[in-house]
Amino acid sequence: MTKTIERTHVSAPIKPRLKVGVRVLSKGNSIFVGSADFGIELRSPCAREIVGQLNGSLSENEISANLKIPLEKVGEVITRLDEAHLIDTQLSKLEIYSRFNSHLKSESTQQRELALDGAHQQIQSKLIPELAFTTWLADVRDGGVFNIGSRRDIDLQIIGENRIASLLFGIMLASGVSNTSLLSSQETIQTQDICAGYFRASDIGLSLTRRTEELSRELSLFPLPQKIKKSEDLFPTRSLRVVLGKIPADQIQDWMSQGIPHLIIEDPDGASINIGPLVIPGSGPCLRCVRITREEENEIWKEIEWQRAFAQSLETPVAVAHSVAGTVALELLRFIDSGESTLIGSMAHIKYHSPCNTEHRNFAQHPACGCNW
Ligand SMILES: [Zn+2]
Repeated sequence: MTKTIERTHVSAPIKPRLKVGVRVLSKGNSIFVGSADFGIELRSPCAREIVGQLNGSLSENEISANLKIPLEKVGEVITRLDEAHLIDTQLSKLEIYSRFNSHLKSESTQQRELALDGAHQQIQSKLIPELAFTTWLADVRDGGVFNIGSRRDIDLQIIGENRIASLLFGIMLASGVSNTSLLSSQETIQTQDICAGYFRASDIGLSLTRRTEELSRELSLFPLPQKIKKSEDLFPTRSLRVVLGKIPADQIQDWMSQGIPHLIIEDPDGASINIGPLVIPGSGPCLRCVRITREEENEIWKEIEWQRAFAQSLETPVAVAHSVAGTVALELLRFIDSGESTLIGSMAHIKYHSPCNTEHRNFAQHPACGCNW
């Protein structure tokens, strides 16, 4: 069977290149390599020439031969830059949809054809900004290519009816999480869904399911087939869930027992909204731990929670919806790429009138909850 999507492959270390955004500054007899936040000073007299050759097209041997500098000296500079996480030293090949790859054609023929393919060029240009995120993750040495390709291995379900849900859906697809779906009890697109996002005024009244399917193909970073078949090759191996608003207790239980990480974004509370925690089953607090802790600390919390469970959800202002969707998308991408997130066991409290002053509240497993037995 022909594979529709192939995973990325990491090869042996090869031609080093400075990471995107790294600056090289002259400092008398030395040079500074880095950014405003951090960097290193290289005092070697030939460092400037060597760094000038780190463009990803020359090997250590070729740089040494070009500059007539001993291989050992070139190696020393490269090692220092590598230890400071300022260069990429590996090459990962990102294979995209089968249309762009044929096993019957030679590599050079494929490259010639790809150079003329507008759709392939579009993907390349959309990938560059995404790689600027992944290349700076710890231990990444391939420009972030492997991480971007691996985002297709996530089955992400966003469950909710509000603006944040639809914005998050689009952002995650456009960031390379191709297997993202939006699940809503709402059947058609409503006036309130229009929020300078992916739905337009002309979408009002259309089927939400059909429109989001169309949007998936339009927004996705990687090309999606016209009809997504759940073939073995396309089926992702990792799962992640995001719930917005009312929490479906039975589903949470299923995710806990299946070990599926899930993030909660509560309905707004006055002019504020809580994001998190991101629950990793079997590790850290679950939602029940959080609920018990909140009830113990605040007498009225239980009653408020009870009222909110039956009240109609408040929609967020447009600016809040975009801000929250962007912040949550960044945390989810970091979690998908590296397994880390500030929201693991922690809740972010965002106030509409003071959005940059996010408060964080950490939770621990509660002894009265059975999740740590
Ligand atoms: Zn628990």
